[in-house]
Amino acid sequence: MQQKIDQVVAVLQQAVRDFSPVCFANSLGAEDMVLTDIIANHFPLPNPLPQAGEGANDPLREPLYPIEMFSLDTGRLPQPTYDLMQEVNDRYSVPLKVYFPDSAAVEKYVAQNGVNGFYGSVESRKSCCFVRKVEPLRRALRGKKAWVTGLRRDQAVTRGSQEVSAFDADFGLQKFNPLLEWSNKDVWAYIRQCDVPYNKLHDQFYPSIGCAPCTRSITPGEDIRAGRWWWENPEDKECGLHVASRVLKRA
Ligand code: SF4
Repeated sequence: MQQKIDQVVAVLQQAVRDFSPVCFANSLGAEDMVLTDIIANHFPLPNPLPQAGEGANDPLREPLYPIEMFSLDTGRLPQPTYDLMQEVNDRYSVPLKVYFPDSAAVEKYVAQNGVNGFYGSVESRKSCCFVRKVEPLRRALRGKKAWVTGLRRDQAVTRGSQEVSAFDADFGLQKFNPLLEWSNKDVWAYIRQCDVPYNKLHDQFYPSIGCAPCTRSITPGEDIRAGRWWWENPEDKECGLHVASRVLKRA
């Protein structure tokens, strides 16, 4: 386990060294809680605030951490996810910034599709994901040179082509997936060993958790992503945050 952790830290150090400013898109899933813990332990202190030059006299300036951490609140998350968000805030020194969707865009989507319009078609579902996730993500990534995610290769058929470090042409910056070769077992071994907080829905057969209306529990033996958008084909099951360009072209 220590060797795996050291490899993750080395990947993150490379990201900070070569691609600052770096941010971590924290979905609050089990993998991302491992990364939260590793980042908080190994990259805990903010960079010194500028004493002169741009921003030096801004009274509202915030300290910049080596790896800034943020989550997307779609407005449709399950309560245990909010509970975990609070726990992360209370436990870790690295602040968790929360981005929300543009309210006018949500109002327009709901007016055109209905409040649960995402059940109607893949197109309508992807529109909802765009408004509630992709657009806020674009805002969160603005000005960054790299982002870090907790993707693992064996999570879904749509993730097999990901790399540990590669240019993300969809968002226009470098993308690091330091847990790419970790197994589900590795993730839970770390969580147990380091007493990392996690979403309590995982204890109720929710291995992958997103928005409440688009996530359900699975039965033993089912694929770990079977509870996400369960009414769609496996190759459609991405929300636009992690789809490699070539996969998008195929869809
Ligand atoms: Fe909308 Fe469901 Fe996508 Fe959440 S997961 S943004 S509710 S379609």
